[in-house]
Amino acid sequence: MFSKFILNTILLFSVSTVFAQTDGGQKVNTKLIKVTNKVYMLQGKGGNIGLSFGKDGVFMIDDQYADGIEQIQNEIKKVSDQPVRFLVNTHFHGDHTGGNPAMAETGTVIFSQENVRNRLQDVIAKETKKIDEEALPIVTFAEDLTFYFNGEKIYVFHVHNAHTDGDSMVYFTGSNVLHTGDVFFNGKYPYIDTENGGSLKGYIAGLEKALLVINEDTKVIPGHGDMGSYKDLRDTIEMLSILYKRVYNLYLNKKTEEEIIKTTDLTKEYDDKGFGNGFIKTEAFLKMIYKEVAQEAGAGVEDREARNKEAMKKYKEIEKKLKEKEKN
Ligand SMILES: [Zn+2]
Repeated sequence: MFSKFILNTILLFSVSTVFAQTDGGQKVNTKLIKVTNKVYMLQGKGGNIGLSFGKDGVFMIDDQYADGIEQIQNEIKKVSDQPVRFLVNTHFHGDHTGGNPAMAETGTVIFSQENVRNRLQDVIAKETKKIDEEALPIVTFAEDLTFYFNGEKIYVFHVHNAHTDGDSMVYFTGSNVLHTGDVFFNGKYPYIDTENGGSLKGYIAGLEKALLVINEDTKVIPGHGDMGSYKDLRDTIEMLSILYKRVYNLYLNKKTEEEIIKTTDLTKEYDDKGFGNGFIKTEAFLKMIYKEVAQEAGAGVEDREARNKEAMKKYKEIEKKLKEKEKN
């Protein structure tokens, strides 16, 4: 069983690595990874790109940064000379949507959950970053969307208030491959953009929704990091739930944010596995959890005693949920 898995892995994940020069003179290391006969993952300097190749053309998920898009387009051309007909943005962050104007220019139709377009429009209006109008998706949806393309059903579904307020996951039902967007950082503490509608609770709920859609054999393309599996998603849910519960417990014991960050054994088992070596370090991750716990525990209640009582009730619910999960 195990050796068969290794053999499959070697057969499926044939890798090509290319170094090239971008406009800014910066070297980008692009890696095109074959996941199945039709579906590929493209790694570069932004979020992981998902690609489907076939008789209908190219289907694309996310497009990294503007200054890397030419190289990405060249990588795609190496596999197929067909046009990229459709592109789905998993969320609005610049490392997933920066290539949008260049893709639109080639006639690609860009899709996203409606909040992605709203967020991008906000960025354009506030001029916080220089983004062209062409970056905007031209088709949006509220909950989900289905493509019938390259001989399979491609199911795009929104997960609420997870990494942002506009996240989508994309499931290739025939190829049995899921692209999670940034609602999964494989083996690392995730970045949760609470300023733009993200939340830890939503993040966990989003991953739980994914597990309902996929199965144990599904190959998972994360927003960042290497290919993952059903088990990796399940382990991530467990890690997030456990840390949330631990921080909640310390908060109820009147520990301050500072004290919680200094509690090193709180995250030790995950830190040892390298979870804190990614974009989000342990301290930043704990601060994010603390902020959410304090908000959740203190919502609408003024004095600390009454707040703790209310928080204790919620904590019991979390504990009960975790126990139920362990049983399953
Ligand atoms: Zn992101």
